[in-house]
Amino acid sequence: MVDYDVIVVGAGPAGLCAAHELMKEKLKILVVDRKQEIGCPKRCAEGLSNRWFEKMNLTPKKEWAVQEIKGAQLYSPNGKSIKMKDDKAQGYVLERKMFEKYLAIEAVKKGAKILMKNQVMSAKRENNEVELTIEENKELKKLTCKMVIACDGVDSLTAKMLGLNTKLDLRETDSGYQYEMTGISGYDENLLHLFFGTDVAPRGYIWIFPKRKGTANVGIGIGAYEKETAKSYLDKWIATQDGIKDGSIIEVNAGVIPVGGFIEKMQADNLLVAGDAGHMVDPIHGGGIGIAMEGGRLAAKHAIKALKSNKFLEKDLEEYTKEWYTLSGNDLKRRLKGRHFLEKLNNDDFNYLAESITIDEALRIGNGTLTKKDKAVLITKKLVTRPKLLKLMIDYAKD
Ligand SMILES: Cc1cc2nc3c(=O)[nH]c(=O)nc-3n(C[C@H](O)[C@H](O)[C@H](O)COP(=O)(O)OP(=O)(O)OC[C@H]3O[C@@H](n4cnc5c(N)ncnc54)[C@H](O)[C@@H]3O)c2cc1C
Repeated sequence: MVDYDVIVVGAGPAGLCAAHELMKEKLKILVVDRKQEIGCPKRCAEGLSNRWFEKMNLTPKKEWAVQEIKGAQLYSPNGKSIKMKDDKAQGYVLERKMFEKYLAIEAVKKGAKILMKNQVMSAKRENNEVELTIEENKELKKLTCKMVIACDGVDSLTAKMLGLNTKLDLRETDSGYQYEMTGISGYDENLLHLFFGTDVAPRGYIWIFPKRKGTANVGIGIGAYEKETAKSYLDKWIATQDGIKDGSIIEVNAGVIPVGGFIEKMQADNLLVAGDAGHMVDPIHGGGIGIAMEGGRLAAKHAIKALKSNKFLEKDLEEYTKEWYTLSGNDLKRRLKGRHFLEKLNNDDFNYLAESITIDEALRIGNGTLTKKDKAVLITKKLVTRPKLLKLMIDYAKD
């Protein structure tokens, strides 16, 4: 007899959505997390688009969807900006701690059990079951289950302990640093603001994600190999921004963001991996909340299938990886190509593109969905006078 059908490691968006799905079958499940409090500290700018609310059947609630977002304003290095604003909400900035607690409470209402301040220290597989060693208040306990869903975030060890290689390639990793600031002004509070430029944020961008009046997440994501730290780029930029520089910092957040390096296999015997632990993050903007929720839910669906058929071997679980790539992974791979194009641009290229291409073209470059006609127009009309951009576009258009 095992203690649980499924143990989910990590009570972030991936783990909590896995728990919801598992409870549809009234299974005996446990979610463990090493943190003291769900959703806290956040490592996140807390932006989530409507697409994910719809996909996950979630209705935004005012206690956690704290700022309605109607679009974005993108700033090129020369300070010019493009504004994309709709009349209706396109998404929200969340109070993530409240959002995750909401997900947790709903999962528990359905019968899930959650234990905080419980850290998985080791995992081993024996007789088609898994034994996890968990530390709680310096005491170790052993719990057994048939399936583990590893949703333990970017620094995941659970999957590795069960033999799945989820090592991050540093070249496909960004460093994020952020202040939640208050007493700031001078920006449209219904838009996300993104600042580009190789001096501002090499291989990334600075963001202002508004959260209530006068308060916002002000942060940066840059390539892990840049000369200076993310904090140093962010501090330098803030010091030049009227309306922001005299604000107060009420929270400091830092974290690593996997922006590529998708893994070929997201299953091993008795194990599925989801969310940041499986590198399920958008490689262009680094957003991962929605993809983690979807990944957690999908992993749960395949765990249920395994439990029903009593088949837990790696080969029995391979449909999970296939389905994830069909659902999201293949799109993310295309967006990775878009990122590789964008990261080769210098400030002049950014300024030129900001003035010469349409918003639709920019979005399609990012999404990897340029049509043959778009590519031809870009190559023959818009980039023809810029040899470097032309070459990059031709290389991009080739694959
Ligand atoms: C600076 C920054 C800004 C970001 N901004 C955005 C944004 O605006 N929008 C967006 O969509 N995404 C954003 N992201 C990405 C987003 O935060 C992640 O993709 C998302 O949190 C992934 O969810 P998850 O459930 O996979 O992992 P996590 O939220 O990281 O949850 C993993 C959980 O596992 C627990 N855990 C780890 N190891 C163990 C263990 N051994 N035992 C028990 N528990 C363990 C951790 O305590 C944690 O609670 C940002 C990331 C960073 C770093």
